[in-house]
Amino acid sequence: ILEIRGVHKVFGALKALDGVDMQVRSGEFHGLIGPNGSGKSTLMKAIAGEHLPTSGTVTFKGGDITRATPSERSRAGMSIKFQITSVLPGLTVYDNVLLATQAREGIGSLLRSSSRRRLHGKVWAALEQFRMLHRADDVASSLSHGEQQWLEIAMAMATGPDLLLLDEPTAGMSIEERRITGELLEPIRGRCAVVIVEHDLDFIREICDVLTVLDQGAVLNSGTIETIQNCEKVRQVYVRRT
Ligand code: ATP
Ligand code: MG
Repeated sequence: ILEIRGVHKVFGALKALDGVDMQVRSGEFHGLIGPNGSGKSTLMKAIAGEHLPTSGTVTFKGGDITRATPSERSRAGMSIKFQITSVLPGLTVYDNVLLATQAREGIGSLLRSSSRRRLHGKVWAALEQFRMLHRADDVASSLSHGEQQWLEIAMAMATGPDLLLLDEPTAGMSIEERRITGELLEPIRGRCAVVIVEHDLDFIREICDVLTVLDQGAVLNSGTIETIQNCEKVRQVYVRRT
């Protein structure tokens, strides 16, 4: 569903991405790991359209989206939850998810009563899937840190995407909250491809089908968990950096 070919991203003299190739298949859970500063977030932003690559191509569902804007990507079925939160704290949980659906539909759909009813159904389905129904009428600022993260994933999924980008979804969570996050993501498998950046390797091992390892802006290895675990180069990077 997603194909990245020879992507470079240069910031001044720094090569943040140095010729990255990566392929994500429909419905797969794809982990993106690597040491601090290896280019994970930069790659996610190049996929999401927040950064335009210096060179290389990004293809989504067979179409070249290298130069597409973030909203064009969103309409094509890409959905993003970033390290920086997008929840509006003064709005209720319900209204946050309702607004998130507009990322793909366009704000006009909120004004038509027929589509409002349809959106209402979508919002409830997303809240139910992410176990937020009991919180629907609470303002987002009253949620715990973990609940805010789940709300953001619910918001990202409310658009019905085919590709979900998660940059460190479990940052700052307790072990129990991480476990729940894994459970919440499980029903998505097969329906929507997910690219997940994570520092928690246990979490990655638990839920990902495929891994790509970045080091200094380049792909060190890509494959199943077993392939990666047995890769000496990958081991060296983790020993060197920790
Ligand atoms: P972390 O695990 O800490 O989140 P990361 O793998 O996500 O790290 P990136 O954030 O992609 O790493 O950064 C890769 C490199 O690019 C780093 O050296 C970083 O300082 C640099 N960089 C990232 N964004 C910018 C920017 N907007 N301007 C200049 N340099 C940047
Ligand atoms: Mg990062």
